[in-house]
Amino acid sequence: MRFPIFKTKIEGLNRKFNLLDPKEQGEYFQLKAGKEIEKLRNFLKENTFVAYLLGKKNSGKGTYSKMFAEVILPERIEHFSIGDMVRAIDLELKDEKKKKELLDYLDKNYRGRLSLKEIILALENRSTKTLLPTELILVLFKREMEKREKKTLFIDGFPRELDQIGFSLFFRDLIGHREDQDIFILIDVPENVIDQRIKWRRVCPICQNSRNLKLFPTSKIGYDEEKKELAPYRPPPKFGEGAGAGFYLICDKDDVKMVRKEGDELGIEPIRERLKLDGKLIEESFSLYGIPKILLRNSIPVKEAEKFVDDYEITPEYVFGWDEKEKKVKVKEKPWVLVDDEGIKSFSLLPQPVVVSLIYQMVDVLNL
Ligand SMILES: [Zn+2]
Repeated sequence: MRFPIFKTKIEGLNRKFNLLDPKEQGEYFQLKAGKEIEKLRNFLKENTFVAYLLGKKNSGKGTYSKMFAEVILPERIEHFSIGDMVRAIDLELKDEKKKKELLDYLDKNYRGRLSLKEIILALENRSTKTLLPTELILVLFKREMEKREKKTLFIDGFPRELDQIGFSLFFRDLIGHREDQDIFILIDVPENVIDQRIKWRRVCPICQNSRNLKLFPTSKIGYDEEKKELAPYRPPPKFGEGAGAGFYLICDKDDVKMVRKEGDELGIEPIRERLKLDGKLIEESFSLYGIPKILLRNSIPVKEAEKFVDDYEITPEYVFGWDEKEKKVKVKEKPWVLVDDEGIKSFSLLPQPVVVSLIYQMVDVLNL
């Protein structure tokens, strides 16, 4: 299954944008998709749709849908994560009053193969390996929807199993979005990109914000001089040695060293099975009739890049060096070349051009 490459390059346009700057990002979207954004905005003031995000773990589902909302009409669009919903239930179960409300709701609305007792046990003793039954996920989701005003939904985390794909086709009826257009958004990201996102991920111990030492650093980079003192014979690190050479990120908000979570150094190894299943989910969803599909592609072969995208739309790689004289970390930026799942040398796109392609395809699907 190959996803088409979307052209975001506009011939004859030489302006460059710094997509990390919010103001320039706004101008970028206006220039690349201004008319389409206006159409979607007008439509979503009065109408809603339901979109299912299908992509491998860490493929950027949240990033793309949140950016779409931000650019179009944030107050009318919601990114809804099933994982977050289940985590919130953990808290409810710890509060006696809320626990009772939840049980009363389930008593009235839940039908399924497990008894209520077994359900509570499943909720309380859940590890990441045991999955909650689909009937339960559906009823919990319905409960969440009843609490809120009706908005456009990007659903993240459902369908998560092959047998849930069928359910998703009737999902909008269940949550009272009967007349809404439903859409599958399929995301294609090379596993190498996912691997590097995990391996170089760093998390702030205070605000839990996560960044990436190689692909998305903070504005301040630290260097562990102690390490050097421990090994005085070691030559100063060369550019590109990164974390192993003592470089670390400093949280822009809290001014503390960001750290690697245990297990992240293994990259995709521990989630290989999950990625395989996610891949199957994407394939099965792709072959369904009736429901429109939007195809988002993260990577682009190096050979084709010039025809389709602008340089500043490509994810750079950051490398660091220690300037002994100035006692300062020097940062260099270069294009990041990776090998995609088919062995083709590729670039990875920044989220903005992928969201431009989402905007154009959404206008098409909704016939605007
Ligand atoms: Zn922080």
